[in-house]
Amino acid sequence: MISRDHPRYHSLIQREMITEAWRKGILADSGMIAHGRGEAFDYLLGERTTEPAAKAIRAAAAALLLAKNPVISVNGNTAALVPGAVVELADAIGGKIEINLFHRTEKRVRLIEEVLLENGAREVLGTDKLLYIDDIKSPRATASPDGIYSADVVLVPLEDGDRTEILRKSGKTVITIDLNPLSRTSRKASISITDNIVRAIPALIEAVRELEDLSRDELELIVEEFDNLENIRETLKLIDLRRYNPEL
Ligand code: ATP
Repeated sequence: MISRDHPRYHSLIQREMITEAWRKGILADSGMIAHGRGEAFDYLLGERTTEPAAKAIRAAAAALLLAKNPVISVNGNTAALVPGAVVELADAIGGKIEINLFHRTEKRVRLIEEVLLENGAREVLGTDKLLYIDDIKSPRATASPDGIYSADVVLVPLEDGDRTEILRKSGKTVITIDLNPLSRTSRKASISITDNIVRAIPALIEAVRELEDLSRDELELIVEEFDNLENIRETLKLIDLRRYNPEL
């Protein structure tokens, strides 16, 4: 039992959720390593939603509201940490949920589907028939025909650079959540949210509710004004400034 007063309470709780998901087979071994890399960046960022991240979250919410067919991609880490919030976000944007795994096994797909259904998902895509995006015969290019394959906007938390590039090249707006501002995914995505998924998804839900009554023109302006590489530069600057003042 971790005491709430422990200075690393939130981090320790996330570790418990991650190891528990690994024990159940929801998470591949490499999912735990990916979490560790994320933790390190979260530490550098001060374990809170930074100002640049809040800006990216607002742009992402606007892009999701503008989408005709938005899809949220779910992997093992996402299912381990925020299954309920993913379902809530999908409902808020009228979007679909699709399982997409780097280390795909039928067993893991079924386990993640089960977790999402238990958390209220009505439909989970990516469980059976998959197509290759732009006919690229790579496991990183597979997508469900009714989901990511035909989506205009995709939210792909904790994605890998190759897949992000394939999705971008196919003309989709790609939103990612990745604590590493220097990852290929962060640099290649249309909108990168440099924040922990446990904070970013609830913040996205809030931003969607805040922006949902805006006109299409107003939403488009928010998306147009967002510059991804500039946002990443702001995040890196903030990490650097925290050397002098960790309170920043
Ligand atoms: P790329 O190909 O984009 O350079 P990579 O090889 O670093 O990526 P992976 O190890 O597949 O990518 O991805 C894991 C990424 O997810 C890491 O960049 C890590 O910082 C990030 N990450 C891990 N846990 C979280 C979390 N809870 N919230 C947000 N991001 C996270």
